[in-house]
Order: sequence, then C-alpha cells, then structure tokens
Amino acid sequence: MIAEVYIDIPANPVDRPFDYKIPDEYLDILVPGVRVKVPFGNMRRLGFVTAIKDHSEFKRLKTIESVEDHLPVLTPELLELGKWLADTTLCPTVTAFQAMLPAALKANYRKIVQVEHMEALKKNVPELANVFGQTDRLNWTDLLKRHPESLSSVNHALRKGYLSIHQQVRSQGSTKKIAVVVPGVSKVRMLEVLQKLDNRAKQQKKVLQHFINVSESASYQPKMRALTQAGLSKSAILALAEKDVLVVRRVEQYRDPYKQSAKQTEPLKLTDEQQQVLAPVVRAIRNREHHVYLCHGVTGSGKTEIYLQSIQHVLALQQQAIVLVPEISLTPQMVSRFKGRFGTQVAVLHSGLSQGEKYDEWRKIREGKVQVVVGARSAIFAPFQNLGIIIIDEEHESSYKQEDMPRYHTRDVAIRRAQKYCCPVVLGSATPSLESFARAQKQVYTLLRLKERVNHRPLPAVHIVDLREEMRQGNHSVFSRELLEKMKDRLQKNEQIVLFLNRRGYSTFVMCRSCGTVVTCPHCDISLTYHRTLNRLKCHYCGFECSVPERCPTCGSDAMRFFGTGTQKVEAELNRLIPEARVIRMDVDTTRKKGSHERLLRRFGEQKADILLGTQMIAKGLDFPKVTLVGVLAADSLLHLPDFRASEKTFQLITQVSGRAGRHDLPGEVVIQSYAPEHYAVTDAAAHNYERFYTQEMSLRRKWGYPPFFYLALIRLSHPEPAYVAGAAERITQILKKQLSGSSQVLGPVVPSVSKIKDRYRYQCMVKYKREPALLPILRQIMQHFQESGTNGLQVMIDMNPLALM
Ligand code: ADP
Ligand code: ZN
Ligand code: ZN
Repeated sequence: MIAEVYIDIPANPVDRPFDYKIPDEYLDILVPGVRVKVPFGNMRRLGFVTAIKDHSEFKRLKTIESVEDHLPVLTPELLELGKWLADTTLCPTVTAFQAMLPAALKANYRKIVQVEHMEALKKNVPELANVFGQTDRLNWTDLLKRHPESLSSVNHALRKGYLSIHQQVRSQGSTKKIAVVVPGVSKVRMLEVLQKLDNRAKQQKKVLQHFINVSESASYQPKMRALTQAGLSKSAILALAEKDVLVVRRVEQYRDPYKQSAKQTEPLKLTDEQQQVLAPVVRAIRNREHHVYLCHGVTGSGKTEIYLQSIQHVLALQQQAIVLVPEISLTPQMVSRFKGRFGTQVAVLHSGLSQGEKYDEWRKIREGKVQVVVGARSAIFAPFQNLGIIIIDEEHESSYKQEDMPRYHTRDVAIRRAQKYCCPVVLGSATPSLESFARAQKQVYTLLRLKERVNHRPLPAVHIVDLREEMRQGNHSVFSRELLEKMKDRLQKNEQIVLFLNRRGYSTFVMCRSCGTVVTCPHCDISLTYHRTLNRLKCHYCGFECSVPERCPTCGSDAMRFFGTGTQKVEAELNRLIPEARVIRMDVDTTRKKGSHERLLRRFGEQKADILLGTQMIAKGLDFPKVTLVGVLAADSLLHLPDFRASEKTFQLITQVSGRAGRHDLPGEVVIQSYAPEHYAVTDAAAHNYERFYTQEMSLRRKWGYPPFFYLALIRLSHPEPAYVAGAAERITQILKKQLSGSSQVLGPVVPSVSKIKDRYRYQCMVKYKREPALLPILRQIMQHFQESGTNGLQVMIDMNPLALM
C-alpha cells in the first residue's frame, strides 16, 4: 500500500504530496491525518499522510520510517479544510495543516507509552507485556523501532485502555503529574499487615487504618498532598509503598489555568427581544440547517446569554460548539461565564497559555472530553467532529484576520466548517463590519436585532468637544475644560473614570491644529502618509505624492503639525492638573509581564485607583460598576489613519469605549475630544446610530470603489535591493494589468508607508475586483515565478482581502 504524504517544508516547489510505501506493520494504524517520518532527499522529515492508495504512478518509492501518532491529529474534515485554506489564501498546504495544530505538536517532543494495567496486559497481550518487561513506560519511537511487529498489538492495547500515550513537551518540562495513592492489596491483606506491623511504626499504622476505613470505595484515589495535609506522614506512605501495600502512582493532570471553579449558573429568563433572536438559531440547530446569523445588539443587550442558551441546545443533541472572542476580550470575566454554565465541558484556548497548556486543551477536544471551546482566532480549528454551532463574538474585530500564512479570515473558515456540518454560525457585534452588515442587507446572512440593554439602562450621554475651539481659547492641554471639570466632579463623588488614548497612527499624518484639516489623496480619499526621510506626503494606495504644505490649504494657518501624544505624557499632565487622583496606566509598557494586565484591572476594580488610562486594550469587555465617565482624548488619531476603513474603526472604537460607562446603577457619561467633531463617524457614534453611519459610509465606499463593493488583493514584495524590488513590482503590475479583465483595477506599484523592514525594501500593488475567476491562478503563477528562496531572494507575499494595508 502507498501513502500520499505532504512534507513539512513550507516552500512552494514541494507543495504536493509524495508517494511512500507503507511497511506492513503500519498498515493497521496508518490513516489520513497521521504524521509520519520519511526520508526526503538526504534528510528525515516530518509529513502528513493525506491519502492511502494501492498503487502509484512512480516506481522505486521510498518507505515510511516511523509513525508519529496513534490517533490522526487532523480529521478528514480538517484535512480537506487545510487544502481549501491553501487554495484560497495561496499558501503551501503543509503550512495550512500546521496552522490547525497546537504549537506543542511542532516542537521537540517525546511520546511515551505507559502501561496502565499490567495484569490485564499480561493476560491478554502477553507478547507485548514481554516487550515492556520490568518497566511500565517506553518511548514510542524506540518501541516502534525495536519492535515494529508489535504495533498492531500496541494499538489493540491502547483501545482497550491497558496502555496510554502521553506527549511530553520537552521545551516546557514534562506534562504536569501529581502523585496519587491507592491500595495495592485487598482489605483483608491490609488488616493482616496492620497486625504484623511493629508497634513503633505508629505513622504507618495510622496510614493503613485510614485506607482500611475507606477501602470499600473503589474510586478512592487521594492525592499525596491531600493525605499529608490531613496529617498522614509521607515517609510512612512511601514505606508502605515499598512493601507494595500501597501504590503511589503519578498521574497526568490537565493543567487548567482557570481552575478557580466558576460558580454554577442557570439559564436566565430571556427578554422578549432575546427570545426572538434565539428562536431562529435554535430552529437551525434542531433542523441541522446551515445558516449565518448576524446578531446586531447594542452593548449590554444580552448577546452572551443568547450564545449560552444556543449552546445548551447544541449539547442536548450531543453536538459541540466553538465560541470565538477576540484575544483582548478573553478575560477571566468572559471565561467564567462559559465555565459557570457548562463547567468541565469547556476548554479554553488563548495566547496566555503555555505550549503545554494549549496542548492539553487541544487534546481534551480531540479526545472528546469537552464539548465547548472558547478561544481566540485559532480555536476555529478545534478538532471537533460533530459541530452544532460556531459563534463569533465581536465579529468586526480585525484580530480575526490572520496576518501570517495562512492569511485567512476566521469568519470565512467558520462558514466553511459550518457548511460541512450543516450547522448555524452566529456573528455578534454592536458594530458589525460593513461587509457583514451588507451581506445581511442582501439576505445572505439573516439579521437579528437587540435594540435595548437588558436592564433598560439608557446608553450613556455623549458630549463632543471641539479641540480646535480649545486651541483658539488658548487651552493647549490634552484635556478640554469640559473633560477636566467632569473628572474633578467624579473624583469628588468617589466615582471612577476611564480615559482612552489611541496611539496607533502616531505621527504618520499631518494635521492643521486650527481647523483640523488633514491632507488626503485626490484619487483615493485616504490620508496622505508623512515620509520623514523624504519630507514628503505620499498615498500608499496609488503612489500620489506632494510636499508638506507650509500653510493649511483650508484656513491658511501655519499650525500644520504632526499629530499624537503618548500615554506617558498624558499621565504626567494628569499628575500636574489633578495631583490627588490615583492613576493606573495601561499600555504596552505597563502590561508586558504575564498577568500584569489582569492585576492592573483587578486593582482598578477594587477601586484602588480613580482613573484608568489606556490604549486599545481597555476598549473592550471591561465592566466596572463605579465607572461613570469615559473620556476619549483624541478621536481623530484613528480617523486619519491612511486606511479606507479609518472611519469604520473610529465609529467602532467610540461605540466600544462608550459602552464602558454607566453599565450598572450609576448613569454614565462620555466625552469625546476631536479636531473633527462634525465627522459622521464621531457624531453617529455619539448618537448611537449604527444605521446612519452604515448608510453614509457605504455611499463613500461605493464612490471610491472599496469593499464591500469591491474585493481587494494585496501583493507585497521585498528585497535588499531597492531597484530590484521596484523592477519586479513593475513587472508584476504589468502582468496583472494585461491578464485581468477590464472590470478590475490594478493599483501601484507603490512604496508602503513602512518602506523598509530589516534592510529589505518593500513595494506593493493592489487589485480591486468584483468577479475575477482567473485571479487566483494568475497570482499562484506569479508567486511561483517570482518567489526566490534564501534570505537574499525576492519575497512575494499575497494577501486576499487584506485588513492591514500599511
Ligand atoms: P452583551 O454580550 O450583549 O454585551 P451581556 O450578555 O453581557 O450583553 O448582558 C449584559 C448583562 O445583562 C449581563 O450582566 C447579563 O448577565 C445580563 N443579562 C443578560 N440577559 C439577561 C436576562 N434575560 N435577564 C437578566 N439579566 C440578563
Ligand atoms: Zn486649517
Ligand atoms: Zn491615492
């Protein structure tokens, strides 16, 4: 028999399966999805088996050397998904396979075969018991190498539970083990031993007595630690273990970072609105219908409760659920809501886990020990085999797009998987992406709405402050007079304040501080980017450039400045203006250490500070009853990012941040400071009016030809020689222009705003298209033709539907 194997060299020339002969002893366990070691060139490489067949068109095949897994790491569905990912995102197939697995499976690891029941093994599989001899654990690779003939009996023993298999992640230390103590002999025998024990062995007698008392219960497996804490002596236990009266076993324990058991919660009685949203989702679950729902619900409208109750229906049908949340909202608060409802049926996957911990969670999913996974982006690949629902919370978040290969959007993967399982996808957001809302308008998705907060708390009142006016009045501080006054008021009342400062886009654009004018590209309607080295303004979509105007083209003022302040500067100013306020600053600098993020938030929650000052990371998921004032210091820093989504991002951010105020009994207020107070992204967010924003933004997207009216494909090149990369970019642009239909546009080549990274010069071009069936094949050819290997070669990166265009 022959196996098709994808070798794990993520380079294009080998992006196809190779045929290998299967040694007879592996025939039983070699199924698609298992990883194998194979000779490749003059090396040994790891590979993924994707198919088994009985003949090959090639002669003189090499033979598979060893088998790495006893259970396929990729299910047939995930193998197929991997090929689809490779096709649609233009990445090597093996890269897609690897992206679906926990990192621990890529790292250096060792697999151990452990005897669980020696007696049963001796009785039923004696030849295998001989292989183990005196020891009860063997290295998997050694075992197979020395006794390849035993493979099928190993498998049999694994299935019967006589043996178990453990993965040791070397780089992370071994899997966590705890010692448990169990009787090694019958109760009668224990009593005999007790009689014979020397009277001076008081501690041993105490231990034995303990085990005699409880020995009726077969499941009694106390932890060593629990016994010693109960006052029994460890050395006495070990002494009895020496005599085989007790057995000390080291058992593997799943590491559970959220162990503090969440309090069990019951389903809440839904409001009418919630019921109307839940009903169609439950119908789709029951009827096994694939359907995409977009749940547009204001912050605090009870979306999470709807997720929880849909999952309950899924579990009742013995199916499984994937819940995706953005990394930053994967807070202990969020996790405990799922653990509180579904307890040990929940696995959690997020970037704070060690490799070993992630692997443990993944294995629980793979082995069917959990039915729900809550996680960030990559949890979409959870190896469930009977999915009943996929939920994507905050579906508009850009972190759902993976920026490295495979450059997939989680939403697309979710829909693809849900189609296979005929199950619903629920996308939830208070500010849906324009793409999703447009699809709902066209009835591709079904729109479900929650217009009210559950507790009928009004959405907070939002005040917009015109920073240009502050300038004119001679106030050069980052705080407007109104915001400062309100802050002092809250401090007096012992209430809390959240201040939000966006640092992205810092200093990349030039703005008139008197009238708020930002110079934009006449062809693309996006802010021009300042290039320091050239002292010029450039459009990084189409390449237009001009010099920095000395005077504002709108009002003639000479106050054209680079824009932006940092959190540190704001903190210093706070100390100067309100010295009595206790401030917690949260930004990349203060949250670098593991756990510091949670610690700072906890301190704020315990009211050990009055003001929480932070960047993006405080925009989401925070729920503090005492927060009654939220200030957005400079709403414009996002608005003028050189990105056609700048308005959308601004609207989303203001809405999110405002949602932090007045969630409980105390009413909330929001102050937004802006140099563009009349901009619709600011005014519509202040008025909590998504639909008006949507309509306005869509008309601009249509006018300028951006998504969702057009699709984008970004081709980015880099090379150490600027002239070389410019030439290649030019040729690629020409090829695209010649081969694509007239309805598509090819923009560029241009130098992106970050023009050089690690001494490699960058160029990019972009395709805007509506329907272009030839695009993927052409791009694949371009990739194959232009991509060079080695660190000095030309690198070609293609991003279908890019989110980051810089
Ligand atoms: P969202 O996810 O839309 O922001 P949440 O699900 O967090 O909203 O709900 C906001 C608050 O309302 C939470 O404290 C939640 O426990 C509560 N809640 C949700 N649904 C109900 C309900 N039907 N009855 C009472 N309280 C509810
Ligand atoms: Zn001006
Ligand atoms: Zn332009």
